[in-house]
Formats: sequence, C-alpha cells, structure tokens
Amino acid sequence: MLILYLNNVSIMDPEGIVIRIKTPAGDMDSSVDSPSLLNFNDLLVAIRDVMPEATVTAFEYEDEVGDRITVRSDEELKAMLSYYFNTMNEQRMNGLMPDPLQIFPRAGKTPGIRNIHGLKVNTRPNPANDCTHAVQDTMASNSLKKSSAELKRILTNGQINAQDIHYQEQLGHGNGGTVYKAYHIIGKRVLAVKVIPLDITVELQKQIMSELEILYKCDSPYIITFFSAFFVENRISICTEFMDGGSLDVYKRIPEHVLGRIAVAVVNGLTYLWSLKILHRDVKPSNMLVNTRGQVKLCDFGVSTQLVNSIAKTYVGTNAYMAPERISGEQYGIHADVWSVGISFMELALGMFPYPQPLQLLQCIVDEDPPVLPVSQFSEKFVHFITQCMRRQPKERPAPNNLMDHSFIIQYNDGNAEVVSMWVCRCLEERRAQEAQGRV
Ligand code: ATP
Ligand code: MG
Repeated sequence: MLILYLNNVSIMDPEGIVIRIKTPAGDMDSSVDSPSLLNFNDLLVAIRDVMPEATVTAFEYEDEVGDRITVRSDEELKAMLSYYFNTMNEQRMNGLMPDPLQIFPRAGKTPGIRNIHGLKVNTRPNPANDCTHAVQDTMASNSLKKSSAELKRILTNGQINAQDIHYQEQLGHGNGGTVYKAYHIIGKRVLAVKVIPLDITVELQKQIMSELEILYKCDSPYIITFFSAFFVENRISICTEFMDGGSLDVYKRIPEHVLGRIAVAVVNGLTYLWSLKILHRDVKPSNMLVNTRGQVKLCDFGVSTQLVNSIAKTYVGTNAYMAPERISGEQYGIHADVWSVGISFMELALGMFPYPQPLQLLQCIVDEDPPVLPVSQFSEKFVHFITQCMRRQPKERPAPNNLMDHSFIIQYNDGNAEVVSMWVCRCLEERRAQEAQGRV
C-alpha cells in the first residue's frame, strides 16, 4: 500500500477509486487505479470524452452537508481527494462499502462579448491584389496529406444537409455573416456554422463551391477543420469545427507565457497555409480560435477569391490589421500576413489596439513608424519578434522559416497545451462568475 500526503494529511492509498461523473445523460463510472497520479487536466479530459457537446471548464463535488464545492485546479483536486479518502476510510471503519466519488461537471456558456474595432475604409478589393502567385516559389510544394480515396470518403461522410442542423445560440456577427453554434444530428457533432447572405448567380455559387474544395484537404492541428458548405437560396453556410473558447478578441490582456504558446500555433498554422500557397489575408484576433483543450486554430482564411469578392461587394470595408502595403493598394504576399501577426499579438499583449483610437484613417499605419512593445513589460525576445513582424518594408519582415526559427517561437515551442488550456478554462470561469454576479 502507498501512503499519500495530501494537504498535509496522510492517507492510505485505497488501491484505486471509482469516480462517478454525473451527466445529464446519466452516470458514467470510471475507475482510477492510482488516484495519487491524477491531475485536474486529466480528469477534465475524461469528462469531456463523456460529454463531447459541453464546454466543461470545472466540476463540483458535494461535501458532507451537501454543499457543492468547485474544483478548478490541481490544488482543489487534491483537496477533493483528501476529503473523499477521509469519507471512504470512515465508511470502511463502519463496515460499509465506500460510495464512488461523485462529481458534477460544470458546463459553461460560449463567450459572446466581443471588442470590435469597427474600423472601415472605402477600399474595394483590387483584382491586382489577388496574389496567390506572389507566394514564394521556393516554398515546399503542395503538401496535401489526404489521399484521393480518403478525400472521397470525407466528401461523402462530410456532407451536411441544412435540415440536419439544429441551430443553437449566435456566436458572433462579423463583416459578412453571422456565426451560430449548431448541432449536426447525424454526425452527432457540435459545429460552428457561418451564414453569409450573397446575392450572386448560380454560376458564381458553383465557382465558390469549387474554390472551397481545398478546405477539405487542409489537415493541420492549427487550422480549423472544415466539414461542409452549402447554399440555401441566397445564403451560403460554412460548417466548421466549434471551438469552445471562442476567438481571442474577447480575451483581455493575455500573459506572455500563454501568448508565446498561442504564437507558436499561429505561426505553425500560417506556415502550413503558405505551404499550400494559400495566403490567410485576414489574420486578426477574431480569426484565432481557442478551446478548453488548449488548442489554437486559425479560421476565415481567403481560399475563395470569389467568396471574398462577393462579400466585399456587399460589405465595403477592411480592417486595421492590414499591412501598410495592402492599405496603400500595392501588391502583397506572405509578408502582409506576417505584419498582421505582429499587430495582432501586440494588441493581445497590451490588451488594447496599439494605434490611437478612434483610428480616423488607416493612413497613419502607412505613414507613421510602427508602435513598439514597452521593453519594461515584455521580454526582449517578444519585443524583437513583434518589431520584426511590424517592419514597414515587407521584405524586412521575417520569411516563414525565420518566423518559425525566431527565438521567441523556439522558446515556447514546447508542445505544452496545458498552459493555454488552463488559461482558457480560468477565463471562461471568470466570465461565468461575472455573468452570474450581473444577474444577481
Ligand atoms: P470579420 O467578419 O470582420 O472577419 P469576425 O471574425 O469577428 O469579423 P466572424 O468571422 O463572422 O466575424 O465571426 C464572428 C464571431 O464568431 C467570431 O468573433 C468568434 O467569436 C465566433 N466564431 C467564429 N467561428 C467560430 C468557431 N469555429 N467556433 C467558435 N466561435 C466561432
Ligand atoms: Mg472571422
């Protein structure tokens, strides 16, 4: 037998325990052989496996008088186990079979508040700016991973019909469309469905559908999974993986050690897209999504020129994350995405957009020296990374390989998803607590 020391109480390890996860669909028992090795994150992963549709960020247990106690960290997990082992010992001493440890997952709401800059200028899309060809030829050629047989399977299995989708709450509204959380009844899967009204000909609809085909082939842990797209009347619906942490624009200032891991994922995602000769063209915090598993994925990249142009015809606008050369209507390439990485991460680090607001004219991004992160608050590597990404001359910004090899990225490229996971869970918990307070 093992002796466990939890919260300074020595406890006899009971050679495994049974944890009963109480879900709306019923109880799920799971046995834990070595409770001493159990950590909060492992348990959360186990809960999510039995409740894939819910956003679980914490769970509760009941104390001896039936009060619910929340567990959100390893420390609180230890306290729960300590309490449970004591109860178990008492039950044993009284000749009783110990009850399983009952836990009640706390499923949260998806974040909905957003800070939108709402910046618009009258720049129409410039056909000369369609610069897929500007992507460097030196890049690795198309590295599509899936075989055609597999692709066929995906196309058949992946087909989603409008009538099989149950729309739930609205997740947000952007420049072109509205995003809903939805449930695909047949696939038993939660989706994010972006619905964009488009008054275009059937010919253009077909062109968009064929341009979107490349999304089926995108296969990267740093890119949102695409399931299907379809037109119903004059609306296109694009079904993708749902990310329960939402987009980064809703988070306040993000600590550097978390931001570093997020940057690694973003740079990996962009490098993957660039290797497929796809420019993202809309890198910004609202297009970086996170989940409670600590994954970070890019969405809304411009694979369909026709779709981008059709949206732009209805919603004339552009955003403040665009590189100076794009604002000036010049040719642009990968380096424009790199600028957008720089300005996005600067905003996420500071908790505010780095140019003065309201931004009357994007012209100041073209004319003025780019802002620099305060060296007193951030590491030298981070400051250097942002400064390099935000060089006014596109060619002076890091190219894909240099970006991956930057010391800031190398430092945080440790595969530690737990840092982001814990941070997302904590932020969602805080948001929930604030919402609850607001309701009282
Ligand atoms: P813009 O249209 O100017 O690019 P945007 O990115 O904020 O702005 P949308 O792309 O329409 O607008 O997205 C609206 C919001 O929906 C996002 O900010 C995000 O919070 C949420 N959202 C989008 N896709 C997903 C997803 N896959 N999972 C969870 N939330 C999502
Ligand atoms: Mg978006």
